[in-house]
Amino acid sequence: MFPEYVKVPEKMDVKPIELEASKSALIIVDMQNAFAHEKGRLFVPESRKTIEPIKKLLEKARSKNVSVIYTQDWHQKDDPEFSVWGEHAVAGTWEAEIIDELKPIDGDVLIKKLRYDGFYGTYLDDVLRMRKIENTVITGTVANICVLHTAGSAALRGYKVVIPIDCISALSMFDYISTLRQVTFLYRGLLTTHEGIRFV
Ligand code: ZN
Repeated sequence: MFPEYVKVPEKMDVKPIELEASKSALIIVDMQNAFAHEKGRLFVPESRKTIEPIKKLLEKARSKNVSVIYTQDWHQKDDPEFSVWGEHAVAGTWEAEIIDELKPIDGDVLIKKLRYDGFYGTYLDDVLRMRKIENTVITGTVANICVLHTAGSAALRGYKVVIPIDCISALSMFDYISTLRQVTFLYRGLLTTHEGIRFV
């Protein structure tokens, strides 16, 4: 029914970018044991390759006082999402914790979220507005699920979305590419790499 090979419709630009440090936030989506640790129940193998790039970006952000925000999937025992994915990232469990390699430090913001979208029912938008943030650099996993919903939600609220393509991961190349396509085409987001970002 569907063609076996789907051509990526256009070349997507991946370029270096300069962002004003005080107006930018680095958002790390769901780099929790559930998704980014091999013992997690919804492990995304590709997420392991993004740890080093995210870590480098994190160091860069911290050295320039860029706001660092983590989201965490944070489910109650009977969450309706479990009918789709099975039980995962239950509030307060090991799976819900951020992986050791990217542990938050004092001053970072932790957003515990109920759904794919980091803004849904959370105070993420308030945090960004209070800090007069204009640019959201969005990293993490799963690219086409929580990263995309959070990026879309940020764009619809008027924030500029920047995706370092070596800092997001998906379960398939199709999911990964389609995320980049949606971000650039639909939300006018910009693509770069962890090395391509300069906070000024
Ligand atoms: Zn979930």
